[in-house]
Amino acid sequence: MAKDYYSILGISKGATEQEIKKAYRKMALQYHPDKNKGNKESETRFKEINEAYEVLSDKQKRSNYDQFGAAEPGMGGSQGFSGGQGFQQGFGGQGFDFSSFSGSGGFADIFETFFGGGRPASSSGKKNGPRPGPDIEFQMQLSFEDAAFGVEKELMIAKAATCNNCSGTGAEPGSKTVTCPQCGGTGEVRSVRNTIFGQMATSRVCTECYGEGRVHEKKCSVCHGSTRVRKEEKIKVKIPAGVDNDSTVRLSGKGEAGQFGGPYGDLYVHIRVMPSKKFVRNNYDVHSEMHIHMLQAILGDTVEVETLKGPVGLKVPAGTQSGKVFILKEYGIQKLRGGKSGGGFGDHYVKIIVDIPSRLTRRERELYNDLATEAGLKEKGNDGFFGRFKG
Ligand SMILES: [Zn+2]
Ligand SMILES: [Zn+2]
Repeated sequence: MAKDYYSILGISKGATEQEIKKAYRKMALQYHPDKNKGNKESETRFKEINEAYEVLSDKQKRSNYDQFGAAEPGMGGSQGFSGGQGFQQGFGGQGFDFSSFSGSGGFADIFETFFGGGRPASSSGKKNGPRPGPDIEFQMQLSFEDAAFGVEKELMIAKAATCNNCSGTGAEPGSKTVTCPQCGGTGEVRSVRNTIFGQMATSRVCTECYGEGRVHEKKCSVCHGSTRVRKEEKIKVKIPAGVDNDSTVRLSGKGEAGQFGGPYGDLYVHIRVMPSKKFVRNNYDVHSEMHIHMLQAILGDTVEVETLKGPVGLKVPAGTQSGKVFILKEYGIQKLRGGKSGGGFGDHYVKIIVDIPSRLTRRERELYNDLATEAGLKEKGNDGFFGRFKG
């Protein structure tokens, strides 16, 4: 998967810093998404160009790349572009991901970042708006019954929320924007390091203004300019009847706030259904076992079976064998998206287990002996069932 960053930028291996920058500007202008709306190929190209520049413009990364010849994981495209990375990590959310640049909004950000472009210090004027915040994943345990019938749960979730004081701009209300004191308005910070190879100059996106060149005169006194605050939110989650183990409920816009007033991510609630002592679930069907006395099985009876819809009388015909399964139609679990579409319910399968009495009263024993004689299993007056084989 090694990419030739030099050929992507159309330069030679010995290209100087200036040549790299010049080539990048030329290519970036040519393939900028704003000029190639909806053109996937040029979007990919633009991404490659930025990836190449990210590596080749950084002395350390370029040297690694020249030595190892490949953009290893952890090097190159997935790092370094976002001035806002620090924030996201600070909130424990997902780190910055290069793939989120698939929309032209992200590309425009990079473009402006590198050219110190005229993006206002307040992001509200941006064409494509700030990126949405990270999603939140939550594990929820449900009882068998709650999953079958549906339930409403309340979650307390600590997350990043848009700061109310500054409405996500990071500025103290009423404060002006001024030229960034750290970069002097260029959006870039140059640093010169002394190394064994001589002096090396690197230029990075200004961490104070994120490449915008302008900053708020006064940072928001609540979020200190980070545009977000940590908040505990009570969130009601409606679990529909019939959810099964390992299913996920998505709550749109209930994730973490994006930076600079960006929209909220989503909340994903992963459902884990606890087993029941009475029932076993198989899709929308419920299985249970019903223990009956041997005589009920022999003579037949109506027994009370516990179901999700309450107790139901089940007619067990005379001569029912142990292991026989009876089906109670529509006594199972409500099908998701049922109702209107006639989804209805699953079935309840009852497996009959015939119990043999292990202790008998004297009277019972006499009667069973008589039955055994009647069935031709033993001679009258003999004690053992197989007494007729005794000498
Ligand atoms: Zn700056
Ligand atoms: Zn604020």
